[in-house]
Parts: sequence; C-alpha cells; structure tokens
Amino acid sequence: MEEYLLRQRDYLLSISRAMTARLDLAPLLQLIISKAVEMLGGEAGLIALRDRDDRFHVRASYGLPASALRADSGQLQMLLAPLLTNLPLSGSRWPLSDLYGRLPLVAAALGLNLRQVVGLPLLLEEQLIGVIYVFRTRDAAFSSDDRLVLSSFGDQAAIAVRNATLYQRLAEEKDRLNAIIEHSADGVLIVDADCRVETINRKLAEITGWEPEEAVGHPCSKVLSLRNAQGNDVCAQACPLRSLSENDTFLAEGDIIRADGQRTAVSITYSPLYDQDGELAHIVGSVHDVSRFREAQEMKSMFISVISHELKTPVALIKGYANTLRREDARWDAATVRESLTIIEEESDRLDRLINDLLQASRIQAGTLKLETGDVSIPRLAGKLADRFRVHAGKHDLRLDFPADFPPLLADEERLQQVFSNLVNNAIKYSPEGSTVTVGGRPLGDQAEFWVTDQGIGISPDDQARLFEPFYRVESGLGRRTQGVGLGLYLCRAIVEAHGGRIWVQSELGHGSTFRFTLPLR
Ligand code: ADP
Repeated sequence: MEEYLLRQRDYLLSISRAMTARLDLAPLLQLIISKAVEMLGGEAGLIALRDRDDRFHVRASYGLPASALRADSGQLQMLLAPLLTNLPLSGSRWPLSDLYGRLPLVAAALGLNLRQVVGLPLLLEEQLIGVIYVFRTRDAAFSSDDRLVLSSFGDQAAIAVRNATLYQRLAEEKDRLNAIIEHSADGVLIVDADCRVETINRKLAEITGWEPEEAVGHPCSKVLSLRNAQGNDVCAQACPLRSLSENDTFLAEGDIIRADGQRTAVSITYSPLYDQDGELAHIVGSVHDVSRFREAQEMKSMFISVISHELKTPVALIKGYANTLRREDARWDAATVRESLTIIEEESDRLDRLINDLLQASRIQAGTLKLETGDVSIPRLAGKLADRFRVHAGKHDLRLDFPADFPPLLADEERLQQVFSNLVNNAIKYSPEGSTVTVGGRPLGDQAEFWVTDQGIGISPDDQARLFEPFYRVESGLGRRTQGVGLGLYLCRAIVEAHGGRIWVQSELGHGSTFRFTLPLR
C-alpha cells in the first residue's frame, strides 16, 4: 500500500510540474481533468471555473460521450446545473454534503450511468475558484485515500489555473493595447532606452514609409528622420530624454521626410516609461500629423501679407485720385476728370476681384464651395469672354477653336467663366503683345477637354508642380512685375475639381504654356 502511495506521489509530482509549466488555460484544464480522472480510476470528469459574476462554467471535460458534448455550451450548462449551482464559495464547507443527491439529476439529464462522484474544490486563499468532478460508472466508491490524493492535486491545479488565468488576462490586455496602438489615428512609436525602435504602428508606417517589421531595431532618428524648422535632426535629441523624470514629457515639432521625399509636418510628444527599479525602460512617442494645421497657418499668414500688399496699391490709387479731384483750389477739365474716374473705377474693380478671390479661397478651405449647375454652352461662353478681352486688352490675337456641334455641359456657368477668364487673363499677362492666345475644346469620350494656349514666357517644371497651390507665384522676371496674388490657378483647380474634372499644365520655359482641363459630359 505504501509503495502504491509513493508511486502515486511521484506521479503527482510529475503532473504538477507539467501543470505549472503550462500557461495556456485551455490545454492546462484538459491536462488537469484527464490526469484527475486517470489518477482516481474514474471514467469521466469535468472542470468548472468561477467567472467574475460568481457563476460556474464548464471549461473542460473528459470521458463525457460525444452526445453530451455536442450540446452547445448553454445546453450543457443547463444539463449540469445541479453540479454548478449552490456551491459553497469558501473552503471550510467542503466536501459537498449533498453531492450524492445531485448526481442522479445530472446522470439522468445526460442520459449516463454515473454511479460515483467525487468533487474537489480548487481553492486559493480559501476562496473557491473552480471545481473538479470525477465520475465512476461502476459502484466502487471513492476512498478517503482517493480524496487525499485528489486534494493535494487540487492545490497544485488551483495555482496552475490561477497563473494561466492571469497570463491569459495579461495576453488579452496586451492584445487590446496593441489593437489600440495599431488603430490609433496618430502615429505611435515605442523605442527602448537606447532609442532603438521596438514598435511603430500603421499610421506611423504610412507617414515614415517604413514597414513596421523593418523598422524594429533601427535607431529612432533613422526611422523618423525628423527635422525642425532650422533643419536640425530632432530625433537625435530624443535620447537625452533619459534625463526626464517619470511624469515629464518632451515635445518636438518638425517635418518627417520619407525616402521618396514626401514631407509630413508633425508634432511628437515623447513620454518615458520607467520599470519597477526606476530604470528607463521605453520611450513612447505619439506622432500627430499637423500638416493641415500648418497649411492653415501658412494660408493665414499669406492671407495677411497679401491683403496688406495687394489691397494697399488700389486703395492708395483710389484715395489719391479722389483727393486730387476734390481739391477746391484746382479746376479739372472734363478729360482729366473722366480719366481719373476711370482709374478709380478700374482700381475698385480690381479690389472687388481680389476680395472675391479671397472670399472664395476661404470658402474652399472651409469646404463650403457650392455649385449652381445648369446647361452651359462653352463655345458661347468663350465667345463672350473673347469679345470682352478684345475690347479691353486688344493687344493679343485671341482665337477660338471649338467644333461646331460642341454639346452643352451641366455646370456652374459663372464659375466656369471665372476659370476661362483666369486662364485667358494669365495667358495675356505672361505673353508678349501681338502673340496668339487660343481657347479651345473637344469632346473626348465621356469627358470634354479644354485648353488655353499662349506663346509666352513659359513655366519651369519646378514651378509647374506648385502653380495650383494658393498664393503661389513664380518668383522671377516678368512674374514678379505683373499684378496678381497667386490665387487664380488655385481657384481654377478648385472649381474644375468640384465639377469632377482635372486641370494641368504643359509648358516649357520660353516656349509658351498650355493649360488643360477636363469636365465630365453628363
Ligand atoms: P496670379 O496670376 O494672380 O499671380 P495665378 O494663380 O493665376 O496667380 O498664377 C500663379 C503663377 O503662375 C503666376 O504668378 C505666374 O507666375 C504663373 N503663370 C500662370 N499662368 C501662366 C502663363 N500662362 N504663363 C506663364 N506663367 C504663368
């Protein structure tokens, strides 16, 4: 008998080692129940664990016939209810006195011939965390030795279950955090104490152009390549974060430049994470894309400088002429008066256009540009425009090139007139007197393509790339001397795109330019 007990103890030891080495809850429970049944020479068994709501749920079973297991978990739960309810929650009230009263109910529900049962509480600090039941289908009762073996087994099992549960919770928590980091709308960067990348999330991968797996292990400054306004590498300074105390944060601002040259304006908040020994373990960087904000800031400051420069000239002229005309000591002949009033009128028109352009630009920025669409005949619109230009600025040869049967478009006539007028105005402004300016259009499949061609100064490839940005003006030669604030093409693009079209330019310095755009034919 003693030898039997010794063997059983050895067996118990090897099982408890196997149990404590396991951290996956489901396979651990399976191991526990199969060993418990085996040790006690039973035929079937189950483990139920206590949930947060103090209810017991079957988490693993052994030897129960397929028919019982096929029941879904809710059904099985009901069939086994007599063994899962009214369980004493503290260890002192075990073993269950009415266990043999409960057994036949379960046996009948499952349709099984269960004759003997032993119930073993899984206790931690006297608190019930679960219960193991082992069943026999023969009459041999469980002995007190059996119970003894099972009880020391139970202690080991309870500890293993607790560890695995904690581990599982930790893993769930980690998954949850990972998902939050991964799906954050901000870029997230985690580096170790030496500023080597441990993790970057999807958003930061997008901003930096690095694949998350590739970034791991590289120095932070290589992955972020962050320059501040003075062109200094900001990330290189991030490692001195070591000097930050636990609740300090470090804010850096600058541009992240990708390998393909794309820039993103960002602000980064770095926070240090210290381990239990007070050593710096990680630094977490939250990377916020501030491009839109930066654009809005730039737009605002351009707005102010444009208003101050461009509004001043017409206002000064209007005031100057009005002042002169009003002088009481002078008599002006009719021609001079008319000339002065013409200038006042022209300058007022210029002011009016400028104010309208600024208003429209701010509407576009705010996303409130609305179209009022109707049938528009573009050849007719271009014809009227050409007449007006010929009257006012007849120093260019303005030609129209439309097929006779050009179909009408569904569009906002006033806005399209603005597009043609801006393009023709530019063509005239930036080409020599006497040269030809052509306005044309052709239907092309489900689109119509339009163009305005001049024989003027042309535009360099670098400038072409930026022409349609608000307030962009070419910084040299003629461009500087002509009037304008650099809003015309920006408005053209916004209007064309609002119609579902596209606008672009083909040009060579010194050889004229062609601005083309498409509009959908309905
Ligand atoms: P603005 O003419 O008021 O400056 P635009 O947005 O209409 O503003 O044009 C932006 C810049 O593009 C102009 O300053 C000019 O340098 C350049 N540009 C536009 N059209 C032409 C053209 N047809 N030929 C040469 N340069 C042009």
